[in-house]
Amino acid sequence: MTPKTILNADLHCHSVVSDGTLTPEALAERANANGVELWALTDHDEIGGQHRAAAAAKALGMHYLTGTEVSVTFAGQTVHIVGLGFDANDPAMQQGLRNTRGGREQRAMEMSDSLAKAGIKGAYEGALKFVGNPELISRTHFARFLVESGVCRETPEVFRKYLTEGKPGYVPHRWANLRDAVTWITEAKGIAVIAHPGRYKFTPNEEYALFTEFKSHGGRGVEVVTGSHTPQEYLKYAETAKEFGLAASRGSDFHSPDESHTDLGTLPYLSGELTPVWELVADRIQ
Ligand code: AMP
Ligand code: MN
Ligand code: MN
Ligand code: MN
Repeated sequence: MTPKTILNADLHCHSVVSDGTLTPEALAERANANGVELWALTDHDEIGGQHRAAAAAKALGMHYLTGTEVSVTFAGQTVHIVGLGFDANDPAMQQGLRNTRGGREQRAMEMSDSLAKAGIKGAYEGALKFVGNPELISRTHFARFLVESGVCRETPEVFRKYLTEGKPGYVPHRWANLRDAVTWITEAKGIAVIAHPGRYKFTPNEEYALFTEFKSHGGRGVEVVTGSHTPQEYLKYAETAKEFGLAASRGSDFHSPDESHTDLGTLPYLSGELTPVWELVADRIQ
C-alpha cells in the first residue's frame, strides 16, 4: 500500500496578489506541469487570489486547498502561520487579514526614509513598480527595486545588507497575534500550520513556547518539508511534529522563476511515519 504521505502536494507559494511574480493562473499551470497533485496558493495576509487559484486548478484537473500565510508577532519576532482549507468567504477571517495588511503602507514609507538616510533615494516609488496588490507592499518589492537599480546583485544580498534587523532599511513591525491568526483560520473551517520553523531565530525555550501556545490555541500542523529547510531540518521538524502531535505539511514557498531556488512540486515526499495535513482537511479539498 502506498503511504498516505506519498502525494505531490505543494501547499505554500505566492502570486502577484502578495510578493510572487506569477499570476495565480500561471502558478497553477506551473504546478500542474511539475506534477503537483494537490496545490494551495498561500499569499501573505491576503486571500484575494483564492477564487482565481481554485478555478485555475479545477480547469487543469488538479486538487486544491484554499491557503494563506499570516504574519504574526511572537516573542518579538515575525512568525508565519499558514492557513489551509478555510472558507475564503469567511467575513471574520477577511477582516482579520485586512487589519493585518493595514500597517504595510506606513511601514513602507518608513523603510524608504530609512534607506534614503543610507543614500538610497526613491525606494518607495521604486518598490511600488513591482507591487501587484496596493495593500501588500512588502520587503520583497523593495528587494526587487534594489536589484533593479544595481545596489545589490540579487535579493538575498538585499536582505543581508538592508532589510533585516539592525540594517538600514529595516523597520520593526507589529503583526497579528498568534491566538487571533489561529482562531481566524480555525473558525473559518481551516487548519493552522506553523510555516518554516527552521527560519526563526528562537532559543529552544522560545521555540517550545511557540509550539505549546500554538497547540493551545488550536493549531494543527507544522511545515516539515519546505524550500526554507535543510534536509537536517526535515528530520528535526518531523520529530517536533511527532512530539507535539501535529500533522506535517510540505510546500516550496515558491515566489518567482528568477528568484526561488525551489520550484513548485520538486521537494522530497514527507516521511511515511507522519500524518500529512491533507488528512485533516480531506473534506475541504476542491
Ligand atoms: P514582509 O512581509 O514585508 O516582512 O516580507 C517578508 C518576505 O520577504 C518573505 O515572505 C520573503 O518572501 C522575503 N524574505 C525574507 N527574508 C528573506 C531573505 N533572507 N532572502 C530573500 N527573501 C526574503
Ligand atoms: Mn514572501
Ligand atoms: Mn514565510
Ligand atoms: Mn511564504
